[in-house]
Amino acid sequence: QNHYDLLIIGAGPIGMACAIEAQKANLNYIIVEKGALVNSLFNYPVFMTFFSTSQRLEIGGVPFVTINPKPNRNEAVEYYRRVAEKFDLKINLFERVNQVNKKDDGLFEISTSKTSYTAKNVVVATGFYDVPLLMNVPGEDLPKVTHYYKDPHLYAFQNVVVVGANNSGVDAALETYRKGANVTMVVRSGELGPNVKYWVRPDIQNRIKEGEVKALFNSELVAIRENEVDIKTPEGIQTIANDFVIAMTGYQPDFSMLRKFGIELPESLCPAYNEETMETNVKGLYLAGVVCGGLDTHKLFIENSRVHAEMIVKHIAG
Ligand code: FAD
Repeated sequence: QNHYDLLIIGAGPIGMACAIEAQKANLNYIIVEKGALVNSLFNYPVFMTFFSTSQRLEIGGVPFVTINPKPNRNEAVEYYRRVAEKFDLKINLFERVNQVNKKDDGLFEISTSKTSYTAKNVVVATGFYDVPLLMNVPGEDLPKVTHYYKDPHLYAFQNVVVVGANNSGVDAALETYRKGANVTMVVRSGELGPNVKYWVRPDIQNRIKEGEVKALFNSELVAIRENEVDIKTPEGIQTIANDFVIAMTGYQPDFSMLRKFGIELPESLCPAYNEETMETNVKGLYLAGVVCGGLDTHKLFIENSRVHAEMIVKHIAG
C-alpha cells in the first residue's frame, strides 16, 4: 500500500503547493517531511517578519489575510497549517527520507527513517535551511555559538557577537540590543547587506551611528573561546569579552543528499534541471522550491518558485 504516483520530499510551502496540484490532477501522492509542517518556517526567529507581502506567500489560491502588509513568522506558520487542513493534504511528518533509488523497472524506491515506499515520480522540495554555512573557526562548535537565532530574551544583559549583516544578522542585532544585550556586529564586507529590508535599514544604521550597536566592518571572527572572541579588523586583532555568538552566515542546500539521489551537480553547485519541467537528469525525479537555486539562495523564494508545482504536475499528468 506504500505505492504512489508521486512522492514529495519536504512539507515546506513549495512541497505543499506540489501536493495541492497533484491532488487537483487526481494523482495519488504523499509528502514525507523530516520535521514539523513547514519546518523551516517553524524554526525561524519567533519575531521574524517576512520581506514578502502575504499575498506573495499564498499557495493553492487560498487568501493569506493579514492586517499588516508583511506577515510575521507566526501568521505564516498558521496560514500554511490551515491550508494543509483545508485540502486535507496527505503528509507523513517526522520522517526523514534517507535514500531515493531508481530501480530497473523504472519505479523509485524511497527509504525513510520509518519505512520504505515505491513511487513513479519523486519531487525534492527540501529547501536550504538545514545546512548552515560554517565560519570554520576554532570554537565554532561551542554550545554558546548558534546558526539558528530564535528568541532575543536569551541574550538579555549578555555580551553578544552577531556575525553577518544581511537580514538575519541585522534582525538579530536589533532584537538582542533592544533586550539589553551588548551587541557587536562582525561584518566581512565594508557595509550592510544589499538586501536588508528597506524599512529596517535606517534603524540599524542609526543604532550603529549612535554607538548603541557596535559594528566592525571589513572584519572577521577568527577564534571563539568560552569567555572571549578574537576578531581580525583592519587595525589588527581585537579580543573582546563574549557570552554568545549568533552566526548569521547563511545556509546552503544539502548537496550531499542531492548527489546521493543521483542529481548532477556542476562545479557551480547549481543543480541541473530542465527549466520547463523541473525534471533533473534522472527521469521522473524533479526539483522544486528554493533548493533549485544551489548556493544562490537569494534567487528563489516562495513567490517565484510556487510555479514549480504546476510545471511539475503538468509534466507528470501529461
Ligand atoms: P523549505 O520551506 O525550506 O522546506 C523544505 C522542507 O524540506 C523542510 O520542511 C525540511 O524539513 C524538509 N526536508 C529537508 N530534507 C528532508 C529529508 N531528507 N526528508 C524529509 N524532509 C526533508 N522567502 C520568501 O518568499 N519571503 C520571505 O520573506 C522569506 N524570508 C525568509 C527569512 C529567513 C530567515 C529565511 C531563512 C528564509 C526566508 N525566505 C523567504 C526563503 C524561504 O525560506 C523560502 O522561500 C521558503 O521556505 C521556501 O520553501 P521551500 O518549500 O522551497 O523550502
